[in-house]
Amino acid sequence: MIFQDRDTLDSAPPFWDRLWRHRAACAGRDTRPFFSPDTSPLLKEALGTCLRCPVSTECLAFALDERIPYGIYGGARANWRRALLIRRPDVKSWSDLLANARAEHYRKNPHPRSGQR
Ligand code: SF4
Repeated sequence: MIFQDRDTLDSAPPFWDRLWRHRAACAGRDTRPFFSPDTSPLLKEALGTCLRCPVSTECLAFALDERIPYGIYGGARANWRRALLIRRPDVKSWSDLLANARAEHYRKNPHPRSGQR
């Protein structure tokens, strides 16, 4: 899994974006790199796109909830997601879990664009 840089995090909304696909960094791009074999140099390109994506958490939650068995989603490879699903069979909705975690985070650390700092 990748971690977003500070600028990308600051451009991400402090709320759960249910229409996340519209703001995806990969929207309108060739999706083949996201479904390349692990040894392909194209995979690095896909991971770089996810690194700059403001909705990567929403994307990851979608892939986990839908049990998508292939490709890069949210900067996470399929084997990483599979391992997470095995470790956490108790999670019924990754979208709910991660949305609640985000809300809790911003309750404790107001978003830089919220004007509450
Ligand atoms: S996290 Fe990656 S795969 Fe998901 S929407 Fe963003 S760029 Fe696309």
